[in-house]
Amino acid sequence: MSDKFGAMRPSILFPLFGETRSLPGVGPRLEKLIGRAAGTRLLDLIFHLPSGLIDRSHRPTLMAAEAGRIATVTVNVLDHLPPRDRRQPYKVRCSDDTAAIELVFFHADWDYLKRALPVGEKRVISGKVERYSGKLQMPHPDHILPPEQIAELPQQEAVYPLTEGLPAKPFAKAIRAALEKVPAMPEWQDPSYIKRAGWTPFADALRAAHAPKSEAELLPIAPARMRLAYDELLANQLALVLIRAHMRGQKGRALRGDGHLKARAIAALPFTLTEPQMQAIAEIEADMAMPTRMLRLLQGDVGAGKTVVAMCALLNAVEAGTQGALMAPTEILARQHMAALEPLARAAGVRMALLTGRERGPTRDETLVQLVAGKIDILVGTHALFSEDVAFRDLGLAVVDEQHRFGVHQRMLLQGKGSTDVLVMTATPIPRTLALTAYGDMDVSRLTGRPPGRKPVDTRVLNADRLDEVVEHLKRAVAKGARAYWVCPLVEESEKIDLAAAEERAAELRKVFGAKVGLVHGRLKAAERDEAMAKFKSGETSILVATTVIEVGVDVPEATIMVVEHAERFGLAQLHQLRGRVGRGSARSTCLLVYHPPLGETAKARLKTLRETDDGFVIAEEDLRLRGAGELLGVRQSGLPEFRVADLAAHAELLAAARDDAKLIVSRDPELKSARGEALRVLLYLFERDEAVRYLRTG
Ligand code: ADP
Ligand code: MG
Repeated sequence: MSDKFGAMRPSILFPLFGETRSLPGVGPRLEKLIGRAAGTRLLDLIFHLPSGLIDRSHRPTLMAAEAGRIATVTVNVLDHLPPRDRRQPYKVRCSDDTAAIELVFFHADWDYLKRALPVGEKRVISGKVERYSGKLQMPHPDHILPPEQIAELPQQEAVYPLTEGLPAKPFAKAIRAALEKVPAMPEWQDPSYIKRAGWTPFADALRAAHAPKSEAELLPIAPARMRLAYDELLANQLALVLIRAHMRGQKGRALRGDGHLKARAIAALPFTLTEPQMQAIAEIEADMAMPTRMLRLLQGDVGAGKTVVAMCALLNAVEAGTQGALMAPTEILARQHMAALEPLARAAGVRMALLTGRERGPTRDETLVQLVAGKIDILVGTHALFSEDVAFRDLGLAVVDEQHRFGVHQRMLLQGKGSTDVLVMTATPIPRTLALTAYGDMDVSRLTGRPPGRKPVDTRVLNADRLDEVVEHLKRAVAKGARAYWVCPLVEESEKIDLAAAEERAAELRKVFGAKVGLVHGRLKAAERDEAMAKFKSGETSILVATTVIEVGVDVPEATIMVVEHAERFGLAQLHQLRGRVGRGSARSTCLLVYHPPLGETAKARLKTLRETDDGFVIAEEDLRLRGAGELLGVRQSGLPEFRVADLAAHAELLAAARDDAKLIVSRDPELKSARGEALRVLLYLFERDEAVRYLRTG
């Protein structure tokens, strides 16, 4: 079986990549429900770990049985009491030597009950005991078995996270069936490490994780879970180290500019560069001058001034006789970069062009022709930059502005654009642990602090019942020429609903402010959106109502007020990004965080943090603490790697160990050719980090 990269998935894993529908008892309906809870492949099932357990070891006599508790009892089946009316429950009376109990079934399959509970015989039943007007009852026992099969009854039964409609028992059965298909794997971990940690082989650890004997065994620090988490983290880190080694090993080239273009651009700036900016530029230039391929991260809070740093790097590439590309995550941002950088390009005398999904037809063709002829020095755009038909004469440096999405650089690397140096810019100060999972040991330049002249934003938290006061405040401010953003929240995963909220708010505000109110949201056509943005930028509108589209980095230095409605629904990092939209000019700015009660503890803590600090790194750490890594930024949208077993809040030390281990492995066995290397390939496929495998020559 060959994946899309032409590398081979080890055959030992074939069964695990099979679909759940191949399991006994899994029909189309169950398959769909399982798909929603866990995934469609056996692989997804085996990593769907229990979240709780039921203890069936409590075996009282009926007389001693307590209501509300799970009990396992051996009873004699006395008689069946089918109801006259099918809507009534079917009852089966049983007893032991001490008392009687009624088993109660709603909507039951009568034939099944007659077979499972034959009158006059003994059966073991297990389930929750209840007391109903003085009588013992057990509604729908979880298990009914003949006494000779009691060994099959699990003493402790795993309970799995379910989604609605998914029945627990068939699901657990499917997971058990999937676990049976897990082969003994070659050991990919260092045996001495495993021994010291007291861990068992992978398959044993996996089965143990599915068969917890106590609550303690459900914790992330339980040995079985630690082993699996370590496997997963090692796969993650090994993949990053391999990609990195591949980059390093690739012939880059020394790009050394003479600084003449950069000097002209800097002279055209209305400000002087800060110390951290100059430092970052120096680091990047030194890296580009190396004969290896550059892969560097430029990290800095919103408004830290990354754009001119990127421009200097691009000019350095042009000075060295190559071309540069700047890729932004959205159309708006690409245009904004273009607008900000064009004057500098003009001052430097370099030719710059824009290429997004919107440039089509003759304009696009013309750009492509000039690009391949080397008549364009710097190309700015969106993902469209990396379309098949876009060819540079000689691309020396690609700058990827990820804002606060991650992983784009990896995708870009996969496109394999030769020896191009890569600079990734990110505006989200992510905690060190998360940075490690997304970027591994990338070289980092950090822009700390802010450009001079920026004042801290006055942040206030208000109850929504004071919305009138907010509007009054806006009236006074707008009368004095101020400009304000008004952000309506992401209510659900539904753009439609968000949109309705934003439209309604815009309509309300228009009653007060008339044509001074603009509206932008993700559903607008790009041209309409640009128009709304342009009107706000020029001051034709004073209030811009927006869904979170503006989060992705518009720059309007005149805007001094940020109103965020339903602030309790945003994550910390998101709120921090939104707040970063104001406080960009010289005037004093305000951020009004409007919440709708009731305010939960976490939401309260979040808003408090925002009021107290504007240091993005502090906020990021706090976000991790409050939410747990899984929820941070909404991992899915953010492009941060997702983990099935590892829990970054609990396994940070394992992550650090995995990083060191991965480096050691690649330094000793760069092609993963040793016996352990072969096993590690299995690991990479197992945790679906196999994109790295194709970088191995023998892959
Ligand atoms: P980022 O991309 O890091 O979010 P930008 O590069 O957009 O931030 O910079 C934010 C604002 O700060 C821009 O308006 C930019 O012109 C301005 N700026 C950048 N560097 C300086 C500086 N050294 N002095 C004053 N203003 C600066
Ligand atoms: Mg280089």
